[in-house]
Amino acid sequence: MGKTLLQKVWDLHKVRTLPSGQTQLFIGLHLIHEVTTPQAFDALRQRGWKVARPDRTFGTVDHIVPTRERARPFLDVLAEDMIAALERNCRDFGVRLAGLGDDRQGIVHVIGPELGLTQPGMTIACGDSHTSTHGAFGAVAFGIGTSQVRDVLASQCLAMEPLKVRRIRVNGMLPAGVYAKDVILAIIQRLGVSAGVGFAYEFAGDVVERMTMDERMTICNMSIEGGARVGYVNPDRTTFDYLKGRPFAPSGEAFDRAVAWWTSIASDTDAVYDDDVEIRAGELTPIVTWGVNPGQSIGVTAAVPTGKEPGADPTAVADALRYMGLQPGAPIAGLKVDVAFIGSCTNSRLSDLREAAKVVQGRHVAPHVKALVVPGSAQVKQAAEREGLDEIFRQAGFEWRGAGCSMCLGMNPDKLEGNQVCASSSNRNFKGRQGSPTGRTLLMSPAMVAAAAVTGEVTDVRELV
Ligand code: SF4
Repeated sequence: MGKTLLQKVWDLHKVRTLPSGQTQLFIGLHLIHEVTTPQAFDALRQRGWKVARPDRTFGTVDHIVPTRERARPFLDVLAEDMIAALERNCRDFGVRLAGLGDDRQGIVHVIGPELGLTQPGMTIACGDSHTSTHGAFGAVAFGIGTSQVRDVLASQCLAMEPLKVRRIRVNGMLPAGVYAKDVILAIIQRLGVSAGVGFAYEFAGDVVERMTMDERMTICNMSIEGGARVGYVNPDRTTFDYLKGRPFAPSGEAFDRAVAWWTSIASDTDAVYDDDVEIRAGELTPIVTWGVNPGQSIGVTAAVPTGKEPGADPTAVADALRYMGLQPGAPIAGLKVDVAFIGSCTNSRLSDLREAAKVVQGRHVAPHVKALVVPGSAQVKQAAEREGLDEIFRQAGFEWRGAGCSMCLGMNPDKLEGNQVCASSSNRNFKGRQGSPTGRTLLMSPAMVAAAAVTGEVTDVRELV
């Protein structure tokens, strides 16, 4: 009987089975950032411990960094303290850091792949839920908490519960105006936000096979929003072509040897799955969330629920509609937006900015909308500027910022105010996620955010392109 990629990578990295039944896994790459590391490094210092494998640890700054005014010291004392602590910790413990001013800086899940640190067959951990992004390369990548960050720094190992595997095959052809973001939102809408608990999601099918690495990263990124601990795509020629020539990828003959090994860790054709789901791509439409979790979504031409739909939880629907200020059964298209945010580790790569720029070009942001584009990394920013995308956005009335998490989580100066409604290319629409306790988030693709920015309301992007 064949094995899945998850089983192969798990077995290769297993140190032992712990008395708790958990697996002690060796972690091939530990990515760190400023927010989930200060206490972890403090714990090491108190015990006089070293970082076990600084050569397998890499840091950057993203969550709390300002994206507009970056002169040091920052006005925000907490941000200054956190960044300074990471700089000091990386220096003291011999860990590589792509800090502010380094042209490798950016959101941790954007820079790992673009630097070639992320590779097939690896186990990867990072103190951020959306570490599942790296699964796009055929890695098994976990988001972890601060105490686990400490454990990985100290031992390069993690205690993990074994996972089942659900294969999700997306087959057919995506209609025009439907993007990878719509695919993952549709998957979460259909399966629910907790169906993935205890599972790894293996994304497959001809749509996924045709996807670029940027698109695969978008769907793996949001696996966690469907409850799955990890999401992955089997590595193939698209993966290898992306990695070739990246700074930390193997080169020369080592690259050819790596490709042979990377190929071998893909799921076997006779692998057995704990569950198998098929999504028909041709039936998908651009999707918008209407509620307070990423599963509460509808097609842009549909109406928000009333709570009386079969299988609906009337209390949860009523609570979400009340928070969002929506009437039961109201169309989502035409809902006024105050802010448009293109960014986050889900959708801030060059291809995302290109798609959004196509919608924006020759148009202007609606007068009542504040619109910002926050590239995922310094390298994405530079590449976009070389193509003139920054000018397209600026001329349309967008703000063009420095790389960081920005309005994905409201931990830096980019926050919603009051009960503003934000069309956002990020990954979480939880209550208060974007920095205001009453702020309202509508998740959608970057092209849909661009459409909402220029019309001032939720708009079917297919009408504009
Ligand atoms: S963009 Fe959002 S989800 Fe991604 S790493 Fe930053 S805070 Fe986490």
